Amino acid sequence: KSTLVWLRRDLRAFDHVALHQALQHSERVYCVFIYDSTILSVLPRQDRRVDFIHASIAEVDAELRQLGGYLITRHADPLQAIPQLAAELGVDAVFCNHDYEPQAIARDAAVQQALQAAGRQFFSYKDQVIFEKSEVLSQTGGVFSVFTPYKNAWLKKLAADPSVLAPYHIEPHAARLAPPPSPSPDRQLPTLAELGFEPSNLASLQIPTGMSGAASLFEQFLPRIAQYKDARDFPAVKGPSYLSLHFRFGTLSVRHLVRTVVDLMERGAGGEGAAVWLAELIWREFYAMILYHHPYVVGGSFKPAYDAIEWEQGPHADELFAAWCAGRTGYPLVDAAMAQLNQTGYMHNRLRMVTACFLIKDLGIDWRRGEAYFALHLNDFDLASNNGGWQWASSSGCDAQPYFRIFNPITQSEKFDASGKFIRRYLPQLKSLSDKEIHAPWLVPRMLRPDYPEPIVMHDEARKRTLERYAVVKKTD
Ligand code: FAD
Repeated sequence: KSTLVWLRRDLRAFDHVALHQALQHSERVYCVFIYDSTILSVLPRQDRRVDFIHASIAEVDAELRQLGGYLITRHADPLQAIPQLAAELGVDAVFCNHDYEPQAIARDAAVQQALQAAGRQFFSYKDQVIFEKSEVLSQTGGVFSVFTPYKNAWLKKLAADPSVLAPYHIEPHAARLAPPPSPSPDRQLPTLAELGFEPSNLASLQIPTGMSGAASLFEQFLPRIAQYKDARDFPAVKGPSYLSLHFRFGTLSVRHLVRTVVDLMERGAGGEGAAVWLAELIWREFYAMILYHHPYVVGGSFKPAYDAIEWEQGPHADELFAAWCAGRTGYPLVDAAMAQLNQTGYMHNRLRMVTACFLIKDLGIDWRRGEAYFALHLNDFDLASNNGGWQWASSSGCDAQPYFRIFNPITQSEKFDASGKFIRRYLPQLKSLSDKEIHAPWLVPRMLRPDYPEPIVMHDEARKRTLERYAVVKKTD
């Protein structure tokens, strides 16, 4: 029997469920990654994520070659390419890992159908999360929509069966990997240019790629994990792990990370931070579970009553939106955060909350417009977490911020970037303002802030308008 393993958001060659299963159950195993032309064709020609995938794929290929195999790549629509390649190679089955996004589920169903029509099998496995779909349910068998009870049930389930964290080794049956075709061409992987892309600034930002990048970020984070609880809210501080891009593309094993953190906690070595960080990983699984059970959240409010809200529209709304995108709102913390996103593709979690809340509740713009902007610009864009984050900020989501809780962008700035260190990094034109002035520059004479815009709205007035706008959902909350 021979098998084709189709890599998607699991760009690694260790602790990989589909690859492990394929090696265990067949004599010959091929691996493929498809640069999905339907996804790539609509992206700008410089895209950090394509760069990241490209570099990470090279590492997977190198690792597979070490093990005696190699990676096949194609630039095509997987709907055709997978059944075609399976036929070319004459494999009996295609193995992959689950993807919970509605479009991916539909794609996989279509691929499965095409394979089955040709007498081939299709198997998919849980890999990117510890618990998926309906594995964590309430005591009455319901799907959770509130995080804390979900988290408690998740932790209880893990405690009851820690073997879910066991690694899925590749090495024992690595000899079954199909060797590279011989004579092996020097280079089989496409260049970025061949894919139609130009290099982005990913390398100059020194964002580490691939399995090695994920491993080194995690290694650097572990000594900081005990301080995570206190440090994670301050964008000028190296508090979080910066691993989200690696979670997104599966250059790390979630099982390995959770195992490491649980070990630390059991040894009493992770301080308060380890449990808080683990809870963030559980948020990730919570949102994946929500998307799986409620795919209508793509484009629609989790709480449908919130779809009755009337957002600002027309040319003025477009101007406000454009100012937000470009970081020209006149609110330094918001603008510095948007500059961070635009320049690096990363935005600190506190700032994602602040900028999303500002767009929705200060500018009155439909959260879906912000969601789409983040989707295009975030290196770590993940449909489930991004949608969950935006619906949290718009109060329309499950376990969301109540609609009347509206962040004040000035107090958020004073609290989380008190000395203005983060703001100065991204808005050098405000460098000379004092630590006190930098949060509300419109209060200092204009000559001291020549290149900085006036605030596009006044927060107190915007707040009142938002409470009126949300009156339509008052009764349902
Ligand atoms: P750490 O603090 O080190 O957290 C570790 C990991 O836990 C993250 O890498 C991520 O996988 C997960 N995680 C942390 N916080 C959350 C959260 N609130 N929800 C879900 N998972 C979480 N995260 C994404 O991965 N992709 C997105 O597209 C995304 N969009 C967001 C949009 C908004 C409006 C908001 C408020 C949050 C969004 N998040 C998203 C969640 C969070 O901001 C990022 O995961 C985090 O900032 C990534 O940085 P880190 O890896 O250093 O995080």
